[in-house]
Amino acid sequence: MIIQFTEENPEQNLRQVEQLLSDREIAFSTVPGASVIVTAAADRLDQATINGLPATVSVRQFDNDYQLSTRDYQNANTVVDLGDGVIFGDSRTVFAVGPCAVESESQAMKTAEFLTEEFGLKLFRAGAFKPRTSPYSFQGLGEEGLRILDKVRSEFGMKIITEVKDTTHLDAVAEVADIVQVGTKAMYNPALLIKCGQLQKPICLKRGFMATVKEFLQAADFIMSQGNMDVILCERGIRSFEPQTRFCLDICAAALVQTTSHLPLMLDPSHAMGYAAQVPAVARAAAGMGVDSLMIEIHPDPPTALSDKSQALSFEQFRNLYSAIKPICQAAGRNLV
Ligand code: PEP
Ligand code: MN
Repeated sequence: MIIQFTEENPEQNLRQVEQLLSDREIAFSTVPGASVIVTAAADRLDQATINGLPATVSVRQFDNDYQLSTRDYQNANTVVDLGDGVIFGDSRTVFAVGPCAVESESQAMKTAEFLTEEFGLKLFRAGAFKPRTSPYSFQGLGEEGLRILDKVRSEFGMKIITEVKDTTHLDAVAEVADIVQVGTKAMYNPALLIKCGQLQKPICLKRGFMATVKEFLQAADFIMSQGNMDVILCERGIRSFEPQTRFCLDICAAALVQTTSHLPLMLDPSHAMGYAAQVPAVARAAAGMGVDSLMIEIHPDPPTALSDKSQALSFEQFRNLYSAIKPICQAAGRNLV
């Protein structure tokens, strides 16, 4: 159930409704910017109570157990504007490019220099806290990685998207990140989603690789129900029966999400395909969908990459990909930035 206030100054209505819900022991959270109260789907007010509320209060009861991320709740696209032309949800496809992990200062700087000088790209991706499947794999540089990302921003003026594994280092990540990325495994961590919802930073939510579209949007609702409406959805591939591709980019789900959710959509051909040789073909297909963002992993020396080595494009491979993608984005009505 969502309760909205249509008045210019809704403070009084807000307090009245908060009191009403507290009296009835109905759990709720308040979305401050939007002047909205959200309660669990099962909590309903009876019609007589609703009729007794001021005319400036509108109550929307949903049968679905996901609401805020849907076009039923908001038909207009959500626009996430990071400044400097990095805007998700309008007529752009924002390229989020960089290595899987920050490995060293020189690796990050070399990559950022390549992306800014050759293409003028503005959004750098790289993980400092890496959620690896094996405890014996490189786990990221942690705080040192964040320091390097901060240096990428100050030297090259790039915005930073970097991931958070769990709540323990969320504040440190949020201090450096322009977009906090919640990875495919962390999508199932409600405590983390709730904390992300309390941040005033855009969140890029990657779809769990076994999650249905509904579960994906429910995870987005977890974040939004805490007041953070700046959520970017990322389809990054789901697990299929095919062992020769790492995952399978679910473009059907992407098409569905474009029509059923107002949130910006990113596609991630790198993690879906998993192999550099085929990433460009998948990226071309993704660009043709007219999406708000594309994520691609590159590395100055792919054979030495410490994580996701097989999918990392060399700089030369990225040059080719970029020139192939740009006209496709344009044909899909988007400007690649
Ligand atoms: C990543 O972006 O490097 C990453 C680990 O993504 P995912 O959570 O989709 O695997
Ligand atoms: Mn990766």
